[in-house]
Amino acid sequence: MKILFCCSEAYPLAKTGGLGDVGGALPRALLKQGAQVKLLLPAYASALAKARPNGLKLVAEFELHEQTIKIWQSRLAGSRVTVWLVDHETFSARSGGLYGDDTGQDWHDNAWRFYLFSKVAELIACNQVGLEWQADLVHCNDWQTGLIPALLSERKQRPKTIFTIHNLAYRGLFDQATFHALNLPGHWWHHEAMEFWGDFSYLKAGLVFSDKITTVSPSYADEIQTPEFGCGLEGVLANRKADLLGITNGIDDKIWNPGTDPHLGQHYNRRSLAKKQLNKAELQKEMGLPVQADTLLLGFVGRLVEQKGLSIILPALDAFLASHDAQFVALGSGQAEYEAGLQALQAKYPEQITVKLGYDEGVSHRIEAGVDAFLMPSLFEPCGLNQMYSQRYGTLPLCHYVGGLRDTVVNLSDSQLNGYLQGSLSVESIDETGFLFGSATSEALLASLQKVHSCFMQKPLWSKMQKNGMAQDFSWNASCEGYVELYEQLLASKTDAIRATA
Ligand code: ADP
Repeated sequence: MKILFCCSEAYPLAKTGGLGDVGGALPRALLKQGAQVKLLLPAYASALAKARPNGLKLVAEFELHEQTIKIWQSRLAGSRVTVWLVDHETFSARSGGLYGDDTGQDWHDNAWRFYLFSKVAELIACNQVGLEWQADLVHCNDWQTGLIPALLSERKQRPKTIFTIHNLAYRGLFDQATFHALNLPGHWWHHEAMEFWGDFSYLKAGLVFSDKITTVSPSYADEIQTPEFGCGLEGVLANRKADLLGITNGIDDKIWNPGTDPHLGQHYNRRSLAKKQLNKAELQKEMGLPVQADTLLLGFVGRLVEQKGLSIILPALDAFLASHDAQFVALGSGQAEYEAGLQALQAKYPEQITVKLGYDEGVSHRIEAGVDAFLMPSLFEPCGLNQMYSQRYGTLPLCHYVGGLRDTVVNLSDSQLNGYLQGSLSVESIDETGFLFGSATSEALLASLQKVHSCFMQKPLWSKMQKNGMAQDFSWNASCEGYVELYEQLLASKTDAIRATA
């Protein structure tokens, strides 16, 4: 089974969020399961620099729309996954972010950049650039790769296509003039193709033209068929319901392992959970907070954007910290209003809050290891990774009941807590791993924070829940099996797609 896995991010070569984690981990897991997977990634300057130590070989060079394209071959660090980096000057001769400049402004030519990337993917998948490799199946991810299934659909013989939605909110919208400038087939400008209310949507192209659609959790697969979560694409998705499947992401359990994590001062596991406390003390020190073992330490890591629930975190924390012995550490960057909001809270509660603005992998690992509970009240969450990292690190997640958070956190209900407090429920009977609250309001979050605090006071209960979380299997094995099953099903089905012979 030959899979061309096309993604605009793959850790450690390129990552801005969860997509990068998946792009780095899923191809590795697929290779282990016997799939012949090639990872196709834009050759961002930063990605080329990171790939160089693993070898970088020019394997193809050709002209496309009068532009020079080079394909560099490398290996994904620590694996045998072949990476093909698509080098066009709009990727490789640019410093700044993957999708925009250092000020956060999108690159003006993103439509062109990802059109070129998609066109190259089409050619490679059909063995037309001299790589002597023909894909059976092309797995596309998010809007940046949305045109690939459309481009392939124009061919008589083609590999099968899968399009995975990692976040429906990013629809890859451009204007009609862009559509015309790219000289795309006229019949694609249609509301049943890639036109979206007068605009041009790369994401919609992926949804309409792929053979199968997946998304990163079963709950999100259901939610996106509703107006509340469908971002205007709920109709398209409901139409394709029969081809839509949710497969929960795994986590990289080598990188996220408290027993070996190089970012931690103290390693620990389920049997040496007491050592987590040392990480807590070190984190409190690192963050300039009073080192207090019995104070509930809460954490947050993530993009500071509306999606992550910042608008409910700020008022809920304000009320909570004013009335409870608790601390909060946050790491992230994003919208100025949320950065300012967190900084204002830090100024108000200097002994209780430390906010670190920016991106820092080491600190993100130390927060997962050092805090008692992790806050993730996302308004919507396709899958989410941090709540899984938390459980693996013996940190209890507090999440909004939505998307992948619903599928990966087992909620301790109010009646269970009461039963435990009244002695009618034994600690052994508790299988839960965290906390979920139903409505995305600061009042509901505040009530949950109070519940977390009461639980934290019950050491045997807390430690049982920590151990329950640490025993969960969030590895890629299970999700990878889901994808392999889908690939096999798709390859066995009869369409005009070809089985590769090369
Ligand atoms: P999303 O993809 O929506 O940003 P996820 O929870 O799926 O959210 O994945 C986010 C990933 O990015 C996690 O691995 C998280 O630890 C990481 N991350 C986000 N912000 C930061 C940051 N400021 N510093 C370090 N890692 C971060």
